[in-house]
Amino acid sequence: MKTRIGVVGSNMVDLVTYTDRMPEAGETLAAPSFSMGHGGKGANQAVAAARLGADVMLVSRVGEDLFGEGTIKNFRSVGIDARHVRPVPGTQSGVAPIFVDPSGENRILIVKGANDHLLPADVDEAAADLRECGLILLQLEIPLETIYYTVAWAAREGIEVLLNPAPAVPELDVERILQATFLVPNQTELTILTGMPADTREQAEAAARSLVSRGIRTVIVTLGAEGALLVSSAPTVHIPSVPVRPHDTSGAGDAFIGAFAQHYVRSHDVAAAMRQGAAYAADSITRPGTQKAFADAEGFARFRA
Ligand code: ADP
Repeated sequence: MKTRIGVVGSNMVDLVTYTDRMPEAGETLAAPSFSMGHGGKGANQAVAAARLGADVMLVSRVGEDLFGEGTIKNFRSVGIDARHVRPVPGTQSGVAPIFVDPSGENRILIVKGANDHLLPADVDEAAADLRECGLILLQLEIPLETIYYTVAWAAREGIEVLLNPAPAVPELDVERILQATFLVPNQTELTILTGMPADTREQAEAAARSLVSRGIRTVIVTLGAEGALLVSSAPTVHIPSVPVRPHDTSGAGDAFIGAFAQHYVRSHDVAAAMRQGAAYAADSITRPGTQKAFADAEGFARFRA
């Protein structure tokens, strides 16, 4: 059984400025503080799985800049195999300038930079290492052609794929991702994929079922504080969330997926992996930040005890 996890995805550097108020157009304002954090959905999911002890390899692109070097160092520090994280000449690393005011309201810009240069040829280049994986994780912060290519390649190779269709990209062609083993949207992403409402558990189940009838084997819908739903040709399973007092829910979906993957590659028990995903995400939202909030195996064991 192959327990290695491959991630073909994005990385970003979050540039978070805390301000007393948002500046007006044309205004220059002094802000009290600033912090940097490593993010990007691919990186977040890779880090969550690695923190829990999974063997993780990442295929990703950075710019020829200081952020790129720091990003690769960060992956190595958590034990991720980053041999396929490479700089793209003449590009900038992906960044997310974020402004947060005292009420917690935020304004976010995403500059994908080098992430837009992760191409099918880069998947080919990493193919020998990806073949050693039991599961490949994909999200939508890289070009869609790379997503379609990886789903088709993995199907030919007999490697399972989890596609997290986030952030929601209306142009995603569902017909070209039907071979993914798991599709894991949140409620907003599910609505954009199907054109159906997904606000209640019943609506989410009906929308997920429409994807199953189109040919997706397994849809896992994350429902925030309501937990998650497992929809397939078998009866639907609801996994409740673990009650916590949330402090910062950003990155909850990434924590869920990373922890799901770490459990699934060893157990092949989807419901048990979802329970671990829900618990890991709940623990992570009790602390600020995304990757910074992801527990290691020891911390997570304490949370579950
Ligand atoms: P995303 O972060 O992608 O929007 P969700 O909000 O659905 O995804 O959250 C992902 C998972 O995190 C949920 O399925 C749930 O298990 C957990 N989670 C999210 N919000 C809460 C919460 N308020 N309390 C407990 N668990 C939560």
